[in-house]
Amino acid sequence: MNTALAAPPTWADVAHARERIAGAAHRTPVLTSRTLDTRTGVRAFLKGEHLQRIGAFKFRGGFNAIAALSPEVRARGVVAFSSGNHAQAIALAAQQHGIPATIVMPTNSPRTKREATAGYGARVVLYDPTTESRETIGAAIAAESGATLIPPFDHPDVIAGQGTTAAELIEDVGPLDWLLVCCGGGGLLSGCALAAAQLSPGCKVVGVEPEAGDDVTRSFRSGERQFVTLPDTIADGARTPAPGLLTLPIILAHVHDMVTVPDRALIEAARFMALTMKQVIEPTGGLALAALLTGAVRPAPGARVGVVLSGGNVDAAMLRWMLMDDTDRPATPPTT
Ligand SMILES: *Cc1c(COP(=O)(O)O)cnc(C)c1O
Repeated sequence: MNTALAAPPTWADVAHARERIAGAAHRTPVLTSRTLDTRTGVRAFLKGEHLQRIGAFKFRGGFNAIAALSPEVRARGVVAFSSGNHAQAIALAAQQHGIPATIVMPTNSPRTKREATAGYGARVVLYDPTTESRETIGAAIAAESGATLIPPFDHPDVIAGQGTTAAELIEDVGPLDWLLVCCGGGGLLSGCALAAAQLSPGCKVVGVEPEAGDDVTRSFRSGERQFVTLPDTIADGARTPAPGLLTLPIILAHVHDMVTVPDRALIEAARFMALTMKQVIEPTGGLALAALLTGAVRPAPGARVGVVLSGGNVDAAMLRWMLMDDTDRPATPPTT
């Protein structure tokens, strides 16, 4: 699909997505903590997307994009390229619509992720990333079956679906002064910014990236798409090379600022969630919380701050590594 030709989503699309996903996606809880508020001086409201279906917000956008297809087009199935949460989101959303899904994954993707995706009934097609292009493979599958490709972030219905996260949060807790959202390709951030502009005008929306993968931050500062190559970060959900053609203009129009945090801040956020709040999050899931904990964003005392916890899909080796005491933790993370 040529996303450059797609109309950008608006608040009306987010509102429509809310109706489509109702009953299919969880309305995830909002978590609060006196300890966190005392430590940061603000009133923090954490939107728990680690408790969403498939363990991340991606189910919202994937389900909405499939639901938006016409019945005839939908019946021919969907294709996605992903080794991460988008794969599982598309697999489960397709299963719920009773349609076939093909997920194209690199041969070096973790077996647990391949099995989880296959477990939702998707056909998993492996490709060798060193010799084959996933675009060619995906295009061939789409051509032979008539299936529709659903990209992970640069698609109007995916963006609108992700925006339901902020819409629910604001509806549940009331207007916010700040909203902190993690950012990979910017689907979640742009969708949430559309929702905040509508439901909590004046709320400062801030996108948070890993230091090593600051493509959207640099694009935000320069006003033009900037690229990074193979970002070295434990935030595997935010290792995207560049913002999308649809997401960047929305971010430029509605996002107040972009900040970055180092991997050590993601470890701190995951430890805080586990040890203080008794919740498991993945490294990428803690980007927004890390910005608050480290002071990368400094709201005024008493400000009402929404924080999106984006996902909880972490394997045992990575979780164990993050939870170790700083003095015991090996410098290199377990391979993901
Ligand atoms: C995909 C993902 C992100 C980044 O989302 P974008 O829409 O690409 O910005 C952040 N956190 C988790 C857990 C994800 O799966």
